[in-house]
Amino acid sequence: MALRIGCAAEPGRARDNKTGSWRVFMPVVDLEKCILCGNCILLCPETAVSENDGQILFDLDFCKGCGVCARECPAEAISMIQEEK
Ligand code: SF4
Ligand code: SF4
Repeated sequence: MALRIGCAAEPGRARDNKTGSWRVFMPVVDLEKCILCGNCILLCPETAVSENDGQILFDLDFCKGCGVCARECPAEAISMIQEEK
């Protein structure tokens, strides 16, 4: 298959695979610190972050624990916690 310029995979492919099984660290949000800027929703590579009624939610079926959301949170509201498996 030839790669197309600027795109190595079709858009939306992350949703085809449940990448949550890759995770070692999981994100946890401190809602007291969250300023609802939306960075975590916008930048999550797995589109695993959403907001509902002022609450930031992580879809753990798809969150792979990369920590991008925590790194890009301007309020330092997200911590990456090691999971027990
Ligand atoms: S990036 Fe941080 S402050 Fe912004 S919505 Fe997400 S948790 Fe809240
Ligand atoms: S840890 Fe990575 S995959 Fe999980 S919610 Fe944050 S940015 Fe998305």
